[in-house]
Amino acid sequence: MVIRRLIRLFGRRVAAPKAASGGLITWESELRTIAAESAAWSVETGGDLFGRWQASPTVFLATKAGPKAQRNNAHFRLDVDYLRQLSEPLTSNWALRYFGDWHSHHRLGLSAPSSGDRKRIRQVAARNQFPGMVEIIVTTEGSQKQPTIRVHPWLYDTSAENAEPLSLNVRVLAGTSPIRQALIARQDFPEQDLRAWETMPLDRIRIGEDKNPPTLDTAADVDTITMDKALQRADRRPHIAIARRDRLIDGSPSASCAVPG
Ligand SMILES: [Zn+2]
Repeated sequence: MVIRRLIRLFGRRVAAPKAASGGLITWESELRTIAAESAAWSVETGGDLFGRWQASPTVFLATKAGPKAQRNNAHFRLDVDYLRQLSEPLTSNWALRYFGDWHSHHRLGLSAPSSGDRKRIRQVAARNQFPGMVEIIVTTEGSQKQPTIRVHPWLYDTSAENAEPLSLNVRVLAGTSPIRQALIARQDFPEQDLRAWETMPLDRIRIGEDKNPPTLDTAADVDTITMDKALQRADRRPHIAIARRDRLIDGSPSASCAVPG
């Protein structure tokens, strides 16, 4: 019961996005998932970001789009039904919330969200009363066969009206996100191919305008890990699911990047 209350508390806490100073926290596995999926397509592609937002937004899971996603040179539309299928268990069982999407701007070469991207993120935030959102734009460079993948994370303070996205620093933790690890162990979401990230070497990834690949943080001082262990234990017990339907995604998160802005 204590754990359930703890999850409820953390899950419902509406924290103001102070992240522009602290940056985004994620795991090597999530960055490499985004890079592997981007490199697998020569047109725009994408997926979704799920995490927990405490002092800093922490992305625990980057997914790839569902089977009905539409992709072309300057447009990417998520499979919204599939996103709902994903977000329901991730919200209820894992106390993650939808942060926003990641998608590539292969041909646009634009590292910032387009005006269409901004509008969509703000709409989803407003409908769901999310105070902050994260969007990751991916650009590719170099050879088509083995491109270098640039990851550009953006923060939206959606508690302010029409807030412009702010560029975010990233702290990359070494290894696999604990949520990804648990999903692999449980063989959940087989269609996500949750180990595909292992095929993408870290040295093909850059963050923002960095010249070198990201440095991995092996420090064990991350509060989220401690909390995660508790949550994982909770999740192993049957029937401890948290009904938080108020946090399911509402709206139509489809991306159109044709009009850069
Ligand atoms: Zn876009």
